[in-house]
Amino acid sequence: MPSMQVDSQQPITLPGPALDDLFADEQLASLLPKMENPTEESMGDLSNPMVMRTYYSRLLPWKPMFLWLNQSHVPTRQFTHREFAFTLQNEAYLRYQSFHSHEELRKEVLRLNLSRFEIGPMYSGRPKDRKALMKSAFRPLTRELVFDIDMTDYDSIRTCCKDKKMCKRCWKFITVAVKVLDDLLRTDFGFTHILWVYSGRRGIHAWISDSSAMNLTDEQRSAIVRYIDAVKGYTNMEKRLVLSRPLHPSINRAYEKSLKQAFAGVVLQDQDCFRTDPQQWENVVKMLPDKENAGHLLKQFPPTSSTASSVDRWTALAPAPSSSKESKHKAEKYKEAVTDIIVQYTYPRIDTEVSRKLNHLLKAPFCIHPGTGKVCVPLLASQIDSFDPDTVPTVGRLLLELEDLARRGDSSADWGKTSLRPYVELFERHAEGVVRERAREVKAEKAVSMEF
Ligand SMILES: [Zn+2]
Repeated sequence: MPSMQVDSQQPITLPGPALDDLFADEQLASLLPKMENPTEESMGDLSNPMVMRTYYSRLLPWKPMFLWLNQSHVPTRQFTHREFAFTLQNEAYLRYQSFHSHEELRKEVLRLNLSRFEIGPMYSGRPKDRKALMKSAFRPLTRELVFDIDMTDYDSIRTCCKDKKMCKRCWKFITVAVKVLDDLLRTDFGFTHILWVYSGRRGIHAWISDSSAMNLTDEQRSAIVRYIDAVKGYTNMEKRLVLSRPLHPSINRAYEKSLKQAFAGVVLQDQDCFRTDPQQWENVVKMLPDKENAGHLLKQFPPTSSTASSVDRWTALAPAPSSSKESKHKAEKYKEAVTDIIVQYTYPRIDTEVSRKLNHLLKAPFCIHPGTGKVCVPLLASQIDSFDPDTVPTVGRLLLELEDLARRGDSSADWGKTSLRPYVELFERHAEGVVRERAREVKAEKAVSMEF
């Protein structure tokens, strides 16, 4: 969390001259940190104020950002009454910023040379005017429905990395979660404008811009969270998740489509969870309803000494014990437990607090993660299998690309000539889709009101 919250009045009275005094527009277009032998590392040195300033002036795609948030080509309250929250380089945190246009937002971000910024809801009044408004006249009205999936919630099962570390292998848990959640949001709720945004280190956010999502109340958001959060409270794997039967159609669909496969490929094969982390093996065996069989399994594969693979262990565990004494009912319960364990391992683990409230702030796409220097790039769920967090552009690499271009005579290139381009183009297409849909709705609303 940011270290201090400054509840600022407009205009912000913070150090830093007006931007116009610092740089003329043409200077902004060719800004670049001056270095002797620039490398990706030196160009990505976030303690150099020119690094973020160059990124904001030449690379961050302000126009698509505006279209995506505003849902129209002309500024609406969706943008002008929208809260932006700023994190300065010293981690001071400024809430309730609002702007007439994306040019104004860009100028202020550049002037304060932010570390990063977050996006909140559209309010009934302009956030920067809120002090002049009656308290009841200032309340959040709409915002994207958002979700956050973070590797922290997979710490109890991933075996390759710990803490802030993340690699291609544990990222697969996130991949499964994205596929399942995206499918659920489309199939069960009918949402279509879903943008996924890599958080820059070890998580991913979803932003849903459909009107039906934008207009959800806090209560409705909480209800959706309860619907999705099937593994709530069971992610530490110490006790068994017991799903009700018959299985909810949504969970059953995820199970058949993704979870079974993910369990075999990620949990058993790649992470080899039960061999690498004996505690997980012990926990899972103890979750079984048949205590006699559990005893056999622990004898066959002792947690502290067995070297058998997870696949071999699971092959022994999964079939219901076929003793003639076993009733059909008992075998059924056993099968259910096995299914529950698979769901418990692979179903999306979401940070529920992020989604519940309209006024929750979430880091904007295309910000730079202060710890990794990576761009928080957008992507679609359909691309998640080929998405590799290790190859996401860093601010250092992008600035080095600009430096290369400048050396070859092109000193005012923007994102279009850098490796950021495919991400911006995807974002543009997504934003245009949101704008088109909103225009159709506005037209339909007008047609209805004409009839009266
Ligand atoms: Zn890992």
